[in-house]
Amino acid sequence: MKINYIIFLIYKFLISYISAQCFYHPNNILASLENIECTWDSKVENEKISTRELSEEIFKIQLLNCDADNITCDNVLKEFKRAAKLIASIFIFNTQINISVSYYDLCTVYPENICKILGGAAYPTQFYLLQDDDGMKRLYPQSLVKQFQFPNTPKFNEFDISAEFNSKGGFWFKEDLNNIKPDEGDIFWTICHELIHGLGFYNGWMGYKNNPIAVIPLPIYVNPDGIVLKNNLFSFGSSFVEFMMDKYTILLSNGTQISQFTQKLNTFFDEYKSNAFSDEFVNSSQFKFAQDLLVLATTPKSLGLLPRNSKNYSIDSFILETSIPFEQGSSLIHVDYKTYINTNDFLMTYNIIDGISTENMILDNGNYSGGPIGPKLKQMMETFGYTTADNPNPYRPQPFKSPPSNVTSKPNINSGFRTEMIRNLNVLIIILWIPAGLRHYDIMK
Ligand SMILES: [Zn+2]
Repeated sequence: MKINYIIFLIYKFLISYISAQCFYHPNNILASLENIECTWDSKVENEKISTRELSEEIFKIQLLNCDADNITCDNVLKEFKRAAKLIASIFIFNTQINISVSYYDLCTVYPENICKILGGAAYPTQFYLLQDDDGMKRLYPQSLVKQFQFPNTPKFNEFDISAEFNSKGGFWFKEDLNNIKPDEGDIFWTICHELIHGLGFYNGWMGYKNNPIAVIPLPIYVNPDGIVLKNNLFSFGSSFVEFMMDKYTILLSNGTQISQFTQKLNTFFDEYKSNAFSDEFVNSSQFKFAQDLLVLATTPKSLGLLPRNSKNYSIDSFILETSIPFEQGSSLIHVDYKTYINTNDFLMTYNIIDGISTENMILDNGNYSGGPIGPKLKQMMETFGYTTADNPNPYRPQPFKSPPSNVTSKPNINSGFRTEMIRNLNVLIIILWIPAGLRHYDIMK
């Protein structure tokens, strides 16, 4: 216990000396985020784009794996390019975004309870812990971090977004020139939805224990068998970590930031003089905040995303999905299905409707000029830090500090501990109550 306390003091001391934290999402939908050592390379120049007319080049899409026939594989790529072009027509990117796409039978990799109902999923391949203007550090997705063009940046992952789509997913392709069948889902709809997750409409709220008895932010725990740097382990200011999107998540009853819950929960680690998550949590005084979060996460219209410069949170907020039994990957990371599925902001609800094309969804919902990128979604992406013509100078978190002089340029994997973020992935799929004709189209985005 004494040693733990000394370590705790050392890690508090070290916090100010760590210049960056990098988190890698392994190339698997179900993988945990891993804290890796950032690598610094001053010679790396990211491919900056000077004008937006290069819209096709703003997103570089690579179909790395496709198990369908050539025509279908070509169509997958075409649909991704069409979605990328649409996104690039609304948001202004200054640095290229690289997307890896796989289109294959997901049952060759993932268990049946997942692959049989999963159409596709996409996730940022790497996150960076950056300091926000409210004093909290949050995980920013690589696609957005690139756009900030900070003077010092760690070396970026080759791909910004990784997308996996199910070739047995029953998708309809516009290019086939057939009418969509009642049991088919428009792949374009799913691709647009997933790319928005890949750009940072993403968080880490998870159930605590099975049939969750509470909801918590993404915790850090130490894998005792693992390997990773002691420096990294001791460099967290807090052990429940928020994502960029959480900065804007508020209680719709009174406008309180959800981050206040995270801050209260993080006092657990001060009290227990540890920076790793443990089973003592359930008996701690902080646990009641996690129980409150479960109530919020399962009470309709209790949480929302507040756009920047809003004067009225109850009118302006983008209501999050809290009307379903808590399910990681569906609850809180999507917008309220009942409120938005029949509006021009239908895209980020957690279900796709089979048998209707994206085009018809847009027409039925008022033929909005942004197509599937609705007005509230656009406003939130601007709030997150994406540039548009209406939002030329978006908010940015604090830049990376210069790398310490003793930082090596190569990842040093085989020393120290391994620190890992866990995601609770066994509780993702509960669809018994979903009306017929709806399909789950991603699980953890
Ligand atoms: Zn989703």
